[in-house]
Amino acid sequence: MSCNYAEGLSPYEHKGVLGLPEKFDSIDKLNEKCSILADLISKSKHVVVHTGAGISTSAGIPDFRGPNGVWTLEREGKRPSTNISFADAKPTKTHMILKKLVECNKVQYVISQNIDGLHLKSGLQRKYLAELHGNMFIDECNLCKRQFVRNRPVETVGKKCSGVPCASGHAGGRPCRGRLYDGVLDWEHSLPENDLLMSEWHSSIADLSICLGTTLQIIPSGNLPVETVKYGGKLVICNLQPTKHDNKADLIINYYVDDVLEKVMNILGIERPEYNETDDFTKLAETSIVNWTINRKDIVLIEKMFKSKCKGVKKKRILIKNKRKISDISDGSSVNGNIDNDDKSKIIKLEIKDENRKEYAVDTNILQLNT
Ligand SMILES: [Zn+2]
Repeated sequence: MSCNYAEGLSPYEHKGVLGLPEKFDSIDKLNEKCSILADLISKSKHVVVHTGAGISTSAGIPDFRGPNGVWTLEREGKRPSTNISFADAKPTKTHMILKKLVECNKVQYVISQNIDGLHLKSGLQRKYLAELHGNMFIDECNLCKRQFVRNRPVETVGKKCSGVPCASGHAGGRPCRGRLYDGVLDWEHSLPENDLLMSEWHSSIADLSICLGTTLQIIPSGNLPVETVKYGGKLVICNLQPTKHDNKADLIINYYVDDVLEKVMNILGIERPEYNETDDFTKLAETSIVNWTINRKDIVLIEKMFKSKCKGVKKKRILIKNKRKISDISDGSSVNGNIDNDDKSKIIKLEIKDENRKEYAVDTNILQLNT
C-alpha cells in the first residue's frame, strides 16, 4: 500500500541516496548504547523524537531508501514484496513506546515524516504530534482548515478534494461550507504551517533530539534535529543505514528501533503498552467526529517557551570538523568524546566510514519539500 502512496506522487527524480548497506552494532555495543540513551532521556528536560519510515517496517510497511525500500527497488523496476494495506497496519512496538514515553513526560514531542497513520492509531494525542508530510487518515477543510480523522485511509494523495462537506458544525464549531481534501502532501506542496512551526520550536527548545528510522535526507524535516544541536542540545540517531547528519550526532545506534526502544524501556523500568483499539483515533472516527485540528492554545504555549529559551540566544555553528576529528580517532570502541567541553564522557562516537560521508557530501540539499 505504501506503493500506492508512492505511485500516487508525481514523478520526481531526486529521491536522494538510496539503498546504502545496513549496519548492525554488536549486542555488547548495543546494550552499552541503550543504557547511554536511557540515561540521556532521564537527564533531559525536553526530548523530541523524529520518526521516519524505518519505524513502520516492522508493521509490514516498506520504507523508501532502505535496501528493500520503494525508491531503491523502483530503480531496478521492482516493487517491495511485503506490503500490508494502510487500513490493516497496526502500530509497532516503537509507536506504542513513544506514546507511553509521552504519557510519562519523558518525551515532549514527536515529529513524523510518515503518512501511514500509525502514531494516530497508537493513541498519541494531537498536541504531542506533528505530521509534516500529511497522513492518510486525516482530511482537511479547504475553507476553515480544520482537520478531521478518517476511519479508513484516503484513496487519493496530493490534497485532492473528496467532495465531502466540512464536519465543523458537527464538531462543535460554526458550520462551514467548505469541502474536505486529503491531507497527503505531494512533492511540490508546502508543509502544514502549524505542524512545521511547532516542530521548529520544539526542536530548538529540545535538549535532546532522537531520530528513529530516517536517513534525514528530506528537508526541512531532516534538518530539524540539527536545530537542537545548534542550540546546544544533544543528538542521537538510531537507524540501520548511515544518515545525512551522522557527523553531528553525539550517539549513533545501528540496530532495529523496536529492539533499541524496548531495551531503553527495560532500563527505565517502564512497561510497553499493547495496541488498544479504544485509544485508536481511527477507530473512534467510526462512531464519532474526531477533530484533529491543532489547538491554538498549544501553539501559543510552545511559541512562548521558544521565545523565552531561544530568542536572542546565538546559535552555535556546528563544528563538524571538530566532531569529525573525534570520530576519526574512533576505532569502533568507545571514545571519551568531550565534544562541547561539558561532561559527555559516556558518549560513544560511532565510526563513520569515509565512503558514507562522501555519499552525503555530494549534495546536501538533495530533497526538498517546499516550506
Ligand atoms: Zn471547514
